[in-house]
Amino acid sequence: MENARRAEERFEKLRNEIQDYESIKGQILTGIEDYEKIEYQKKKILKHLNASEDDYRDYHWQMKNRFTSSESLSKIIELSGDETKYINEVAARYRFAVSPYYLSLVEPDNPGCAIRKQAIPMAEELNDIGELDPMDEKGTAIHEIITRRYPDRLIIKITNVCGMFCRFCQRRRLIGETDKVVPRSKIQTAIEYVRENSEIRDVLITGGDAFLASDELIDWMLKELRAIPHVEIIRFGTRTPVTLPQRITKNLVGILKKYHPVFVNTHFNHPREITPEAKTACEMLADAGIPLGNQMVLLNGVNNDKYVVRKLNQKLLTIRVKPYYIFHPKTVKGTSHFWVKIEEGLEIMESLRGRTSGLAIPTYIINGPKGLGKTPIMPNYLLCLGKDKATFRNWQGKSFEIENFGPGA
Ligand SMILES: *Cc1c(COP(=O)(O)O)cnc(C)c1O
Repeated sequence: MENARRAEERFEKLRNEIQDYESIKGQILTGIEDYEKIEYQKKKILKHLNASEDDYRDYHWQMKNRFTSSESLSKIIELSGDETKYINEVAARYRFAVSPYYLSLVEPDNPGCAIRKQAIPMAEELNDIGELDPMDEKGTAIHEIITRRYPDRLIIKITNVCGMFCRFCQRRRLIGETDKVVPRSKIQTAIEYVRENSEIRDVLITGGDAFLASDELIDWMLKELRAIPHVEIIRFGTRTPVTLPQRITKNLVGILKKYHPVFVNTHFNHPREITPEAKTACEMLADAGIPLGNQMVLLNGVNNDKYVVRKLNQKLLTIRVKPYYIFHPKTVKGTSHFWVKIEEGLEIMESLRGRTSGLAIPTYIINGPKGLGKTPIMPNYLLCLGKDKATFRNWQGKSFEIENFGPGA
């Protein structure tokens, strides 16, 4: 009896640990939970473009009909006179393009909408603090399209095309004036480099957005890489499941699964991006045996909120995407309004541990400037590491001690 009572008390305490989240999570809607509103916007867009549901499902149509002017945007969402002026001014410096699909996620009358902030230019982008290439990708580039910063893996950038130009993009400098597909000869040279360097066991194909290369190019490139014995895994970096889920076609998935192990890392930043379309895209990839990871970027006004991140990560798991990294924002020029303090990121990490599945807890990463690389940080749980004792605190702040025995030292 006594034991049962104690257990009950303990569960009561545990419930209290997430009482705050339980009472607020219903107000942070996923795109599935708020789909009626999204569908309303979608219909408005279809009407404006005089298009059909079939058009909408075609990613070529989505790409061709990206919104690229304040004038066309104003037909779908509310823009004040000032906003129109700034959109035009910013667009002259950093171009913008939003797929009809991603635009349908923008709440039309909410200037604080997390989707809007990622997609639509803001006056703050004219603020010039920061650098265009804080990661010094140029300095660590081999053959222009390869960046190698680690011993056993590298990235190859195969296109500058994207479904949507994220307003916080770390590669704004490459987005340029026009969509450019990298010539095949350059990709061939990059593949040669991988072939000649036998310690490279992990090749990460990115862009731009890697999935905006053609099926044919992706098939060819995978075939070439798979023919290299020391290449163990091939990864793609793509935001298409989020900004252009129509791109995940049966044909594409059929190509990818011929070359396993293939991994895909995508980039959801907010629960609203988890729509029925995004779910279908992720499930098609997962069904093809592709492990999916998520690389979120911590952004002021978008997701610098512990409840938003918890909901995002929990709901990502339900569509079979494992939260992989949370990136601290980089000091890219024209993005200073998105920057957050490191304390905020640490607080988010602190609020996850213990209060939700370990599966929903990614690694928080600061990118060292000038190519110094990904550096993990987390709240401090190790309070004291002594010669034969170590003191910790647990997720609830209770401290404990363990003996530190072993053959070393
Ligand atoms: C991010 C990155 C990688 C991949 O890093 P992981 O920690 O293995 O995900 C590889 N090369 C470069 C240049 C990168 O920026």
